Amino acid sequence: MTSQTTDAPEPDACPTCHALTTTERQARATHDHSRATDYRILLRRHLDTTHPAHRPTRL
Ligand SMILES: [Zn+2]
Repeated sequence: MTSQTTDAPEPDACPTCHALTTTERQARATHDHSRATDYRILLRRHLDTTHPAHRPTRL
């Protein structure tokens, strides 16, 4: 059985993903659009570097 060498957890279990998603949602809830965008970019970048297999391939 081959296992990929991933030292990162799944996005669902990743505290960084969770924190970024939560903060982005809170920013949107308070209509803080620039902050929401910032966190969305941070999440994209984090997915890109930490969970490349889970990165959304299209937008
Ligand atoms: Zn993550």
